Amino acid sequence: MSKFEGKTALVTGGGRGIGRAICLELAAQGANVIVNYRSNSAAADDTVTAIAAGGGQAIALQADVADESQVAALFKAATSQYGGLDILVNNAGITRDNVIMMMKSADFDIVQATNLRSCWLCCKAAARIMMRKRAGSIINITSVVGIAGNGGQSNYAASKAGIIGLSKSLAKELAPRSVRVNAVAPGFVETDMTADLSEELKEAALGAIPLGRMGDPADIAKAVAFLASADASYITGQTLVVDGGMVM
Ligand code: NAP
Repeated sequence: MSKFEGKTALVTGGGRGIGRAICLELAAQGANVIVNYRSNSAAADDTVTAIAAGGGQAIALQADVADESQVAALFKAATSQYGGLDILVNNAGITRDNVIMMMKSADFDIVQATNLRSCWLCCKAAARIMMRKRAGSIINITSVVGIAGNGGQSNYAASKAGIIGLSKSLAKELAPRSVRVNAVAPGFVETDMTADLSEELKEAALGAIPLGRMGDPADIAKAVAFLASADASYITGQTLVVDGGMVM
């Protein structure tokens, strides 16, 4: 029997990058997957097609997870599709990098809304379902930047550090109902998010990774699948760093 047979997973921002790899991994291990996206419907449809080609089950659902009413509609549609929700992966995220003197308040606000507030909104919606069922696993994608900080990313680092505090608090709050909450902190992973960085920055980042390579989205997906599974049934409130040894 597959690890996630009969389980349903919702992955926010599941159409591209790390989110897509998480969707593919959970589906490969037997989960029914809901691929949430904000605007790139072609990428989300492509992820669903790839899952179906492998014999898996998936649908794409559009929603801006920074918007409370859209989150409510997303969870309504998601739970009615496969009759429940067992795994939530809060992966959607953006950057608006700049040094603090040049950073606009709007750049701070949109990053908190998209990365942190969305995570809180989705955790709240999932908690309602999972607490009733007395089972479930939530995995929040943070970043090593939320642990170590990074010049030029004060807004992003604050949102990612917030996700770690949120995850620990909810792990304590939901543990009595057997709902686990963990975070995964990727290092430097090859996706659209890092594609535009200058060669100079990429070289510097690479030089700081003991394992000597950038992360592949599949590296992150494997860690998420582990935390979502029964193999991690005694693990909650943790932040699993997946970064080739960059931050230790
Ligand atoms: P990416 O390639 O830029 O993809 C971002 C995803 O988030 C897209 O699927 C996008 O949807 C979705 N998204 C953005 N805003 C959204 C919103 N308001 N509502 C719903 N979906 C939204 O990024 P990535 O590199 O895969 O990053 C995924 C996560 O890992 C993020 O939380 C990021 O902070 C974190 N992370 C990444 C790295 C890295 O090196 N790449 C390192 C550490 C942490 P559309 O396709 O519809 O635009």
